[in-house]
Amino acid sequence: MLTLPRFEWVAPASVDDVLRELAEHPGECLLVAGGTDAVPNLKHRLHEPRRVVSLARVRELRGVRRTADGLELGALTTLSQLAREPLLAPDFAAVALAASLVASPQIRNMGTLGGNLCLDTRCTYYNQTYFWREALGFCLKKDGLVCHVVPQGRRCVAAHSSDVAPTLIAYGADVEIAGPGGVRRVACDEFFVGDGIHNNILKSDELVTRVFLPEAARGARGAYRKLRPRGAIDFPMLSVAVVARGTASRMESLRIVVSALGAKPRLLGSLAPLVVGRAADEETFAAVAAAASKQCRPLINVPYDDDWRHAMVPVLVTRALRDAFGSVSP
Ligand SMILES: Cc1cc2nc3c(=O)[nH]c(=O)nc-3n(C[C@H](O)[C@H](O)[C@H](O)COP(=O)(O)OP(=O)(O)OC[C@H]3O[C@@H](n4cnc5c(N)ncnc54)[C@H](O)[C@@H]3O)c2cc1C
Ligand code: SF4
Repeated sequence: MLTLPRFEWVAPASVDDVLRELAEHPGECLLVAGGTDAVPNLKHRLHEPRRVVSLARVRELRGVRRTADGLELGALTTLSQLAREPLLAPDFAAVALAASLVASPQIRNMGTLGGNLCLDTRCTYYNQTYFWREALGFCLKKDGLVCHVVPQGRRCVAAHSSDVAPTLIAYGADVEIAGPGGVRRVACDEFFVGDGIHNNILKSDELVTRVFLPEAARGARGAYRKLRPRGAIDFPMLSVAVVARGTASRMESLRIVVSALGAKPRLLGSLAPLVVGRAADEETFAAVAAAASKQCRPLINVPYDDDWRHAMVPVLVTRALRDAFGSVSP
């Protein structure tokens, strides 16, 4: 049986009180929202905080509302709420779809948007018990000095594994961060960094408060595809979010985000020449899928064959494009 380590537990009821906790106990706190990722990680001794700060009582961060600029999603909105949120349909349907594909119903009932964004990166050599990791000699991300995925590497390449984040990046969403100096807003793509040890820009005295989906993204065609061993529960071993504009006869723009490869979701580049002004047909999709394949390089950071995951990149990209343009896909 895996037990929790000892820690002090507090549950402030407002963002200001959470910030006060973080400021008064610098470097000692772990935020916990739904706890669906943090609690197993505590049991594996991947986090060893002196204080756990529960966000469960912070009501001001729950729910989705329409604003003049688009939609505002509270960080404590659960994934189940997002999955069935009428305000997300049809313009931001890929966000709701991605939320509906996270884990299992019980986990979606507890798991939150903020927790999904700040999900710790995952790796075959990291998401293990203390005993397992000790037997291997630990690794760079926690307690050790080497990386078992890239043995000569000096940087952790554990995989970003959030299902919702790629869709938010594809729609051009912003993330709001609250800290001691007030709030700041960053593009969701810039929220993440390519460091598997800590893959976002959050400082230890900050928290994610809201996500904003821009009005300008309304009317786009969104889709999300996820590759996982068991459709009922597993994390993505590869995921693709697509947001396109245009008609079946003339595409105007395309954003594709591929994730579960490295520490940061990858917003693919150089797609415009392949799609702008072209028909949304199989020929265009094949060209985009080939470009995607060239830009992605899966590693052995998750427990599934990297060559197979690479071979599935163009397959998932094609299926997501077909979804976005309403073509039939197997
Ligand atoms: C069996 C299983 C399967 C899973 N499958 C998937 C899957 O398929 N796809 C997927 O995306 N996830 C999956 N998860 C992971 C997790 O359940 C979800 O990502 C969930 O959304 C996490 O939200 P939470 O509120 O429970 O986060 P928590 O566990 O509470 O927190 C996760 C991390 O985020 C931080 N955090 C939480 N809220 C905030 C905030 N507002 N500001 C700053 N930091 C914050 C915490 O400090 C912690 O580091 C799975 C988990 C399990 C146990
Ligand atoms: S990528 Fe390397 S350093 Fe990072 S968790 Fe995996 S083995 Fe550890």
